[in-house]
Amino acid sequence: MLVYLDNSATTSTAPDVVAAMLPYFSEQMGNAQSVHSFGQRAKAALEKARRQVATLIGAAPTEIVFVSGGTEADNLAIRGIAEASGQRRGHIITTEIEHPAVLATARALEEQGVAVTYLPVSRGGLVDVAQVGRAIREDTVLVSIMHANNETGTIQPIEEIGKLLGEAHAAGHTRIYIHTDAVQSVGKLPVNIHSLGVDMLSMSAHKIHGPKGIGALYVRKGVRLGKILFGGHHERDRRPGTENIPAIVGFGTACELAGASLEARMSRIADLRDYLERELNDRIPGVRANGDPLARLPNISNLSFEGVDGESLLIALDLKGVAVSTGSACSSGSLEPSHVLTALGLSREQVRGSLRFSFSQYTTREEIDYVVQVIVEIVDRLREMAPDDDAAGVRNASAQS
Ligand code: PLP
Repeated sequence: MLVYLDNSATTSTAPDVVAAMLPYFSEQMGNAQSVHSFGQRAKAALEKARRQVATLIGAAPTEIVFVSGGTEADNLAIRGIAEASGQRRGHIITTEIEHPAVLATARALEEQGVAVTYLPVSRGGLVDVAQVGRAIREDTVLVSIMHANNETGTIQPIEEIGKLLGEAHAAGHTRIYIHTDAVQSVGKLPVNIHSLGVDMLSMSAHKIHGPKGIGALYVRKGVRLGKILFGGHHERDRRPGTENIPAIVGFGTACELAGASLEARMSRIADLRDYLERELNDRIPGVRANGDPLARLPNISNLSFEGVDGESLLIALDLKGVAVSTGSACSSGSLEPSHVLTALGLSREQVRGSLRFSFSQYTTREEIDYVVQVIVEIVDRLREMAPDDDAAGVRNASAQS
């Protein structure tokens, strides 16, 4: 049996999405900027997709900027605000648990003279809203805090942070923009830019059964963004380059599918996730769930297996046809311990022993039964092989639980 439980890394492209994209590789190959009818048909497809993406998050189509993915959306939001607010000055507030697309952008800006505050998080991975308030300085121009974390699924109180910034503005502070990386939450939760109260929001198609290499930045009307790429006047002068029409059409279709019966789909996925966690907890001592137990996405379960090396578990699972990811694999392919789990206060051993299981609408109960069965066998075997003091630790833990 092959079981793919790494849907937070990427998802399969839905058959309806592929079907919608296909004509735009061949007979509908026009450049959306061309005046002839091929160009006009491409332009119509581009604008339809823009409406589909906007609808999913409650935005106006003119507020959607198509970019190459979540990484570029994050770069455009953060660097765009830094550029617009006067280069090499200002202050940005973010967190220690952001995706590298945000963290590395913030670090690059720091090198250019922008000040950055990286807020810590609680044991459950939550940002303290009051702490955001205390971090605000006179020169703060942007708060960038992710909506849901890609490793733990923990959902941040973005609405409350937005309100706090509104209050700061009402009290005389110059406008502080708020950006949220919603790459993991869009299509998994109802995401609405009005209720979230954000000025910018990053999305990526390949996390919601769309194609890879396409995403969008929602930019509230009136937000002034500096340029990070130079070229033609595409995307209302915000992102130059010939539009990737097949990918954009796929993204639009994926958004429409993601919005349809979202809550029913997600409640089924949450049931499967809870079932996996219950079964593993009942059958294996020393398993703990990481992240906030309540404010969490329905499709991610991050578990630490005491006394087990996550990398060995991942490889053994792969040999059995099960794909998951570890808390130590990072985007560069190195084995640095996860900065997210480390920020939650987990010990090095706990981080090393953690795995992320991420589900999709295609995940079945039979697959979970198979995964539980192979994990029980593998953990047993790995613990047998572990040095005596590690194994003793687990035996003690099981006696306490
Ligand atoms: N932000 C988050 C939270 C992510 O999980 C990812 C992808 O893993 C990205 C940004 C980057 O998105 P993309 O792969 O589309 O560049």
